[in-house]
Amino acid sequence: MNGILISFGELFIKSSSVRDLFIRKLSNNIECALAREKIKYKLITTHDKLFLETKNVIDATNIIQNIPGISSLSPAYFLETKSLEEIIKFVEKNYIDWIKENETFAVRARHDNTVKLSSQEIAKDIGNVVDRKANLSHPDKEIFIEMREKGTYIYFEVIKGIDGLPVGCSGQLLSLMSAGIDSPVSSFLMLKRGCELNYIHYHSVPATNDASIIKSKDLCKLLLKYQPKSKLYIVPFYKIQMEIKMKTPPEERIVLYRRFMLRIAELLAKQEKIKALVTGEALAQVSSQTLDNMCTIQEAITIPVLRPLVGYNKEEIIIIAKQIGSYETSIIPQGDCCTLFTPKHPTTKADLHKVKELEKELDIDSLSKDAIDRMEIIEFK
Ligand code: ATP
Ligand code: MG
Repeated sequence: MNGILISFGELFIKSSSVRDLFIRKLSNNIECALAREKIKYKLITTHDKLFLETKNVIDATNIIQNIPGISSLSPAYFLETKSLEEIIKFVEKNYIDWIKENETFAVRARHDNTVKLSSQEIAKDIGNVVDRKANLSHPDKEIFIEMREKGTYIYFEVIKGIDGLPVGCSGQLLSLMSAGIDSPVSSFLMLKRGCELNYIHYHSVPATNDASIIKSKDLCKLLLKYQPKSKLYIVPFYKIQMEIKMKTPPEERIVLYRRFMLRIAELLAKQEKIKALVTGEALAQVSSQTLDNMCTIQEAITIPVLRPLVGYNKEEIIIIAKQIGSYETSIIPQGDCCTLFTPKHPTTKADLHKVKELEKELDIDSLSKDAIDRMEIIEFK
């Protein structure tokens, strides 16, 4: 085989100018992913498909299977012809390699309207040169023949892609990456909706070791299979937590930590012209994620917080974590920057008025600025 035929799903519902932009983004994302793995290729764009010409079909298939915006892909032969005679000659010469002697087969033909014959007639003419038993309803092997504007594609399987939209089509987000199970999954869901993601991680070194930092880096690296590049902001949070611990009662602390996290994330988002944040919060998963607390936490900032997992339960989240390969990293133990400072009975109904009163004791601006000044930035590509 000399390449991969790539189909996109949701792009069909868009206007042609939007679709052109999406195809450009998708092509760019495919090119970045292959260049990263040093795979040589040529990408041919047609009206409704892409064809990736490469000598390394197996590796390229494994890589681009993860790219959002692709609904399916098929390792394929591309013949620069639509002549039925030439296609028949090609099938006649090669079918022995494709279908074993005892296997049944079916030909499935499709064409654009430049071809005079019907799909059934094409399939029948091609099938006639294959000396194997035909079985149209349950064949062991299917030969797909697709005649398109630039020539003919021949392939045998349709591999499902992850669907969604190409990263870069839906704007930029800053994702709060705690390195637990939820945040990589919420990040993945937004990547799949076409958003470009950067990440922010808060750590409590020296009160903890650097396990959470290492995990957040590893998870950002892992998510790079779905996006061309990203940045991770690693923000020291210990000083803020100590200040909160010293000056406020235990019940409200988690809410106060979270309001600080959002404020710092908002400052960075605004600097980078990013319009919204993402978290892995799920309603009622833990005490900080009751509706009351979510509202009190959100109030600290003005830009929206997107919560793609809000209606998911833990089992549903774990299924996706395993599918995307983040689960194993997420469950590595870490000294979590909040659990370490977590009181025994955190409030589930944080009162905004009370929280604001407590915050008067804290120098919010200088604590936030100090954390940003000391943060580290890592770029992934
Ligand atoms: P995860 O949600 O990733 O599994 P978790 O369940 O321990 O970890 P929660 O305490 O439920 O995290 O926090 C909810 C959300 O708040 C996280 O999904 C993440 O988006 C954000 N968050 C929490 N802690 C941090 C942190 N240390 N750094 C960055 N974001 C964080
Ligand atoms: Mg969680």
